[in-house]
Amino acid sequence: MTAIPLHHHLCHFAGTQPDAAAVVYGDDRISYGELEERSSRLARALSAAGCAPGDRVCLALPKDIDAIVSILAVLKAGCIYVPLDMKSPAARLARIIDSCEPSAVLAASDTRKTLDAIVADHGVSIPALGLVDSDDRDGAALKPRFTCSEIESEPASSFDAGSSVDGTAYILFTSGSTGFPKGVPITHRNVSLFVEWANGYFKVGPDDRMSGHTALHFDLSAYDLYGTLFAGAQLHLVPPEASILPNKTSEFIRSSRLTQWFTVPSVLKYMHKFDVIEDNDYPDLRRVIWCGEVFPTANLIHWMRKLPHVQFTNLYGPTEATIASSYYTVSAIPASDTEPVPIGRACEGESLHVFGPGLEELPVGEVGDLFIGGAGLSAGYWQDEKKTAEAFIDAPAGSGLGRIYRTGDLAYRDEDGLFHFVGRADTQIKSRGYRIELGEIETALATIDDLVESAVVAVETGDFEGVAICCAYAPSEGQEMSSFALKKKLQSLVPDYMLPTRWTSLGVLPKTTNGKIDRLAVKDLFSCGDAADKAGAGRREGSA
Ligand code: AMP
Repeated sequence: MTAIPLHHHLCHFAGTQPDAAAVVYGDDRISYGELEERSSRLARALSAAGCAPGDRVCLALPKDIDAIVSILAVLKAGCIYVPLDMKSPAARLARIIDSCEPSAVLAASDTRKTLDAIVADHGVSIPALGLVDSDDRDGAALKPRFTCSEIESEPASSFDAGSSVDGTAYILFTSGSTGFPKGVPITHRNVSLFVEWANGYFKVGPDDRMSGHTALHFDLSAYDLYGTLFAGAQLHLVPPEASILPNKTSEFIRSSRLTQWFTVPSVLKYMHKFDVIEDNDYPDLRRVIWCGEVFPTANLIHWMRKLPHVQFTNLYGPTEATIASSYYTVSAIPASDTEPVPIGRACEGESLHVFGPGLEELPVGEVGDLFIGGAGLSAGYWQDEKKTAEAFIDAPAGSGLGRIYRTGDLAYRDEDGLFHFVGRADTQIKSRGYRIELGEIETALATIDDLVESAVVAVETGDFEGVAICCAYAPSEGQEMSSFALKKKLQSLVPDYMLPTRWTSLGVLPKTTNGKIDRLAVKDLFSCGDAADKAGAGRREGSA
């Protein structure tokens, strides 16, 4: 497999099929030719604003055609894009922007106010603001360096400031256990090698209509975009209402005549729960691919029975190893709800290893720590040598493996050489597709006044919700703190998807014999029915 800078595929198809639709969003669509021209214009505007190769450009944009143009423009300017989750609290966004030291931020009229507030309240430095959809220069804190019509007045001819295939293409920020989100830089080569393998395996071609479902700050969206561009196919961005309501999701797959539906298990579970898939539905659909968390076999059986014409594939992998590292296509409807679906075999160029505590390869069937090696590995966390050294290590001498990544997942290998995911070795969880370090929530809680202590645990609900995030806390002596009030405070520190859904207020949290918070006991409070009833003598109040 050979790798070339990601945007070169756009240039190629803009030459061979300029009028073919590249991206579709509602009633808007953009052809390969227009995408090439618009991204070249914006790349010129970025360069003129002082963005040099290797600089970071943050994207404060909703997921739409302008955002896709912007991503490609940043790459053409030789820069690194950092998609921001604009629904995150301002303080969290400010820390991410600060740590990237961007040369520019691209925003839309909808997100500009949020940026203004971040600059005003958190003193973040944004050297140049580009407004991709508006000419409105009035803003309290931030005056745009260039606006929509200035971008349009740039020459449309192809622009490329020159990027190396080993240069970083993007940085994605994911939840960090010590309270600060971790940035994962990924190179053009990392993405290129995965997409070439995936497009070959899934036989993606120019007649494919690919879904663009996950948000741009999730790495699965990189396969949606580059899988499309590498094949000259069409990317159909899923609008917000079709992401939330299962019947709309179903209607979207049908009316867009998708051939590939790549999503997270929680969405597939919701579509099953609300029974929105007809027998033999979505006649154009060829593949359902999921990644990011366990897809329960019972739900998979439902999908497979409904859609006998579709191929179902489980992809597994962390952001740190680029999109996915292993795959398993389920060839026949599983015989029972309890038959586990493996995470399968390593994708080409990658390797999976189950190691024991001394980094020795464990025998078949034995559960150990899952490590990944090979083409997808990030160089390490953005500006965080300590975390990089903990997670990215050298494999034992003589193993021939080189650098490997400690996933934090527990797994085993079966006699057929297939890998099976068992769970986590730490307190990272997946909730509705979001990767969350419970430590990030606890660190945020620790900054809130009037709390003596708190603990956050995840409890399996056994239903469609998957896991529930639960918080036990002890207010300071003489202070009243309702769960509602605490949730409100926490809301300004962590994204909504990290907010606990179950709460209990205690006089004091349960402790182990060495004085640490007894997390198993805290979990017990929430696992066995009503937390309030189990909280015992120290309880002050229980609320859901
Ligand atoms: P992210 O970086 O958001 O992709 O999250 C990576 C983590 O999600 C992995 O380390 C696993 O814990 C989990 N994960 C990803 N894919 C799967 C899968 N197919 N099955 C089970 N867990 C998965």
